[in-house]
Amino acid sequence: MKKAGGTVRRTTPKRVTCEECFFRVNLLCALDLAEPCGTFRPSEAQLKPPQQLRFVFRQEQRTRAAWAFPSAEEQAALYA
Ligand code: SF4
Repeated sequence: MKKAGGTVRRTTPKRVTCEECFFRVNLLCALDLAEPCGTFRPSEAQLKPPQQLRFVFRQEQRTRAAWAFPSAEEQAALYA
């Protein structure tokens, strides 16, 4: 965080414990470590998956195909 005088003040990160970990709270942790591991997730996060995007059908009709197979005549011309 930057102060008005131009000095930068750093805050020390809060120390976490396994008791605050989502995996420990939900009895999903099988590790017996002295300190939290790199898998730590705060229990408040609830680890919900991100919301799915909505599927929206296009309303406008396409008038032209973006791509089409060549016609028989065009194919014949390729090998003539
Ligand atoms: S997953 Fe890691 S941080 Fe979480 S409770 Fe287990 S050992 Fe602790």
